[in-house]
Amino acid sequence: MTFFCLVWLVAANVAMAQAPVQTAAVAATMPATLPGPARILAARMGDHGDKTRFVLELTRDTHFILDASRPQMVVVDLEASIDSGLPPGKGLVRNVRLEPGASASRLRLVLSTTAPVHIQLAEIIPPRDGMPPRFILDLGPAPAGTGAAALTPASVSTLAPPPPPKAKPRPELPMIVLDAGHGGQDPGTIGVGGAYEKDIVLAVTLELRRQLLATGRYRVALTRDKDLFIPLRQRVAIARTKGADLFISLHADSIASRNIRGLSVYTLSDKASDREAEMLAQRENQADAIVGMDLSVQSSDIANILISLSQRDTMNQSRHFASLVVRHVDKQVPVLPSPLRSAGLAVLTAPDVPSVLVELGYLSHPQDARLLATDAHRRRLAGSLVRAVDGYFSSQR
Ligand SMILES: [Zn+2]
Repeated sequence: MTFFCLVWLVAANVAMAQAPVQTAAVAATMPATLPGPARILAARMGDHGDKTRFVLELTRDTHFILDASRPQMVVVDLEASIDSGLPPGKGLVRNVRLEPGASASRLRLVLSTTAPVHIQLAEIIPPRDGMPPRFILDLGPAPAGTGAAALTPASVSTLAPPPPPKAKPRPELPMIVLDAGHGGQDPGTIGVGGAYEKDIVLAVTLELRRQLLATGRYRVALTRDKDLFIPLRQRVAIARTKGADLFISLHADSIASRNIRGLSVYTLSDKASDREAEMLAQRENQADAIVGMDLSVQSSDIANILISLSQRDTMNQSRHFASLVVRHVDKQVPVLPSPLRSAGLAVLTAPDVPSVLVELGYLSHPQDARLLATDAHRRRLAGSLVRAVDGYFSSQR
């Protein structure tokens, strides 16, 4: 039982106030990630000569937003509470202080710097070697001639501003994370013939993985490859920990009006493109409510994430990919009259991963439902998406 020894060690290290038995039980399946909202367990500052590193040890992965628009100041908004003190300034950081955040679950850390700085790295790294997840911010001196903190949308979205980062080596093949919607106790929508959305989208996802891997041009990971419930936040976290270059969530919709059919593609927005889109977001975001998870946190996530600079660039890429999906869709696949839509979908909130949600068709429409049950149509849908993926990555090369 060395595993439990490790778990106990972690729990002891962070001086958890929680019931140790519960901690051990949860941590046994996911070492070094603790249940509940994210908390900061420790904060450190290190002067490494060429850079100043600010580290927060977290109980779990969470969202953060950086703002370096003001001179000699970097603001970190983090969805977390804090259990530790803050370290004194070191290197390029004069001091770090806590300001009231937008909500109780949100912290604002303000780093004042001694000179204009350049953000070399900002990311949350997953738990590793018994260490908890950590937020890492590396600040270097700004290149001559740049007055304020050098931060451009591109540099944040790729986390790869010059100089080349050491933390995130670029793998050779793009990583595509496919997300089959719903699963487990959440069947999604139920078709006119009685088919479950969760089963149909999983079948298309597996076919899409097969076709993508067959090209030899991509790596592919799935948020689920079986009938399993996965919370929306965790789907986003999987995309980020896998280092996804593209995230595609697959769903099938349902609507009271029986004559509406066809494929549509959603990107993230705080404002739904129309009332149908708004209702769709409500339906899809309901997934977590099925197991009693807190939805209010997620809706604030969506609002928060939209103000981030990095998200703006990611959203442009998401919209570009969404338009490619529509452009490359197979002639035999019915498409909604205005297929490009946006809504506040919780599963699309990875700030650094271009993400789309594809509604493959309407299970409430008898013909769509019948088509979605056939292998031939699933192959056509997957083929359409492969062409869109090819188009997306060929324009990036
Ligand atoms: Zn769905």
